[in-house]
Formats: sequence, structure tokens, C-alpha cells
Amino acid sequence: MGTAILIFVFGLVIGSFLNVCIHRIPSDRLSIHFPHRSLCPNCQSLIQAYDNIPIISFLLLKGRCRNCHTRISVTYPLVELTTAVTFLFLFYHFGLTLEMVQGALLVSLFIPIAVIDTKWMIIPNIIILTGIITGLAIITLMAILKQDVTYLLKHILWASIGSITIQAIAILGRFVFRKESMGFGDTKLMFLIGLFLGRWQSILTVLIVAAFTGSIIGLTLIISKSKRPNSEIPFAPFLTIAATLDFIWHNQIWTTYLKLIGWY
Ligand SMILES: [Zn+2]
Repeated sequence: MGTAILIFVFGLVIGSFLNVCIHRIPSDRLSIHFPHRSLCPNCQSLIQAYDNIPIISFLLLKGRCRNCHTRISVTYPLVELTTAVTFLFLFYHFGLTLEMVQGALLVSLFIPIAVIDTKWMIIPNIIILTGIITGLAIITLMAILKQDVTYLLKHILWASIGSITIQAIAILGRFVFRKESMGFGDTKLMFLIGLFLGRWQSILTVLIVAAFTGSIIGLTLIISKSKRPNSEIPFAPFLTIAATLDFIWHNQIWTTYLKLIGWY
């Protein structure tokens, strides 16, 4: 129980840092540094440490800035809560293992990618690069522990094939629909996903699940008229959610899929 609480609080702290990344990376005006001091986006007043406690401060201030009373985006507590709950879930699912650390790292990369892509339709290179470097470090460590160099090569291979596939679909989409369907950001993101998942079954699962859920949500938004048919829908949230599900339940998902198509 003690460990679980510690992991949840750690998740809240990481989530709070992810908020800083989400709101500072797309606009280069402010840089990320430690210890970070947050400013109100409206009145630019310094947010005091006691008003910067994950979730609790948001609830105490009723979602408004203490100084100017402007509404604070609900993204802040949502990011903190999502990070903490996912960390806790990974702990219960994997225990205190290297896999849990890998999952926590993956989620910490995915959350800012998904939120930034939804808000600004971009996937910052700095997050992808951080992910690739840390991903390579973890995969190399795993390969050393397993004394199996093919483990490392396999992950790099599937990362490359995954991103080439997305790029090919993007080129095909541009040719068929005569409009931009996916950006180069999705290609880079798929490399990162492939690096962590490292299996062809996972690449296929992520592509199918992301395309399927993406189409459903996209169509729903068009039908409910909150999006026009030719407007862009960010693809990163679907890719990252599909990859997280595959990371946790790859065997179950793959077996279910084989049963569905009658191969099992
Ligand atoms: Zn303010």
C-alpha cells in the first residue's frame, strides 16, 4: 500500500512536469528549467508553490487563477491524474520491474505528444528525440541483460518498418484523397512506438486499432458537425493510446484478433 501511494504521488509530480512541457515546448518563448516557476498564462503573475500542488490546488482554487480569476485549463489536472493513475496501473500490472519503468517512460512521452498534437497539430522533435534516446538506452540494457543482441536489432528493425509503413500510407493518402492525411510527425512517432514495442504483431495492432478508432471518432465529429469533413484530425492520440494498450495487453489483444479472423 505504501509503495502504491508513493507511485501515485510520483505520477502526480511527473504529470505536473509534463504540464510544463505541454505548455512551453510548442511556444519557444519560455524554456523548461529546474526548478520551474509557473506563470499564469493570462496575467503573467508568478504561481506560488502552494498554488502549484497537483490536483489539490486546482480544486482549492476552483479552477481559477488566484490573482486574476481567469479559468485554468482543465488539461492541467487531467494530465496529472492520467499520469498518476496510469503509473499506478502499470505498478499493479507489472510490479516493480524494468517493464513498469519502460511503461511509465512511454506514457510520460505519449501524454505530451497526444495533448500537443490535439492542440497545435504538431509533434515536437524534442519529445521524439528524447524518446528515441531513452528508448535505445532501455532496449540496449534489456539486450545486455538477456545477452541477446538480436533483441536490440529486432526493435530497431520494427521501428523502421513501422515508420516506413506510416509514411507509405501518408503518401498514398495524399495521392488518393489529394489532401494531407498524416504528417511526418506521425512517421517519427511510429518509429518511437516501434522501438518500444519491437514486434511486428504490435506494429500491426497499433496501425489497425489507431486507424479504426481514428475513423470512428473522426466520423462522429463530422456527423455531430463539430468538425468539417476536410478539417484535420490529429492522429497521435490514437497511435499513442493504441500503443499503450498493446504495451500492456499485447498477448491478449493478439489472441483476440486471431480468434476474430478465425485463425485460432
Ligand atoms: Zn492570472
